[in-house]
Amino acid sequence: MQKAVVLFSGGQDSSTCLLYALTHYAHVWTLGISYGQKHSVELACRKTILDILKQDRDRFTGSLEEDHVIDLKDLATLTDSALTNDKPIVMGANGLPTSFVPGRNVIFLSLAAALAYDRGADTIIAGMSQVDYSGYPDCREETLKSMTQTLSLGLNSPIHIEAPLMHLSKAATWALANELGGEWAINMLLEHTATCYRGVHNKRHAWGYGCGECPACVLRAKGYAEFRDMLHNNRLE
Ligand code: ZN
Repeated sequence: MQKAVVLFSGGQDSSTCLLYALTHYAHVWTLGISYGQKHSVELACRKTILDILKQDRDRFTGSLEEDHVIDLKDLATLTDSALTNDKPIVMGANGLPTSFVPGRNVIFLSLAAALAYDRGADTIIAGMSQVDYSGYPDCREETLKSMTQTLSLGLNSPIHIEAPLMHLSKAATWALANELGGEWAINMLLEHTATCYRGVHNKRHAWGYGCGECPACVLRAKGYAEFRDMLHNNRLE
């Protein structure tokens, strides 16, 4: 089947996944979750990105179907994550950064599966990555494999989870976007995606917007610099 649901937050990774989906699938639905994230600027970004993709629909073979945003704001009342509460992002006693939101991706994948099931889609595309990541256990390939099985059993219908960024560094994720949409895609990601954990979206750097100091900004800046080096070296070869 050529139908997919993309977990689309408005960040760099899920926006790259959306470009990937529109390149490889005929019909693509998007799902966003408002879970009380401090960086809720992401949710505004996703609207802008969807508008741009609709305007520039001829760039991709896939058709962008409707978008859904689910309100899960009360998730923040259950957990004490630095992404949903006012506390610093540091390494916790459990060996995970305090930005970990317990259950987040497990819940999101379940919601995406519900939408996929209803639309007759058998694929969920999500931006989890094992490389350059913060150790979040729900981003591991093992978790996704297990979720594939659970969701397929729970729906009595096969569901595939495709994670095109699973083995890509941040630099390689920029390179993938470049492959999918060239300079247009890179500029769109730089200008309109939000990754900063603090939700800073008024400070523009070479790599896009953000505070420049939180772990997400540091990773994005490093990845973008490496990607530019890669491009430069390829041109010299
Ligand atoms: Zn930041």
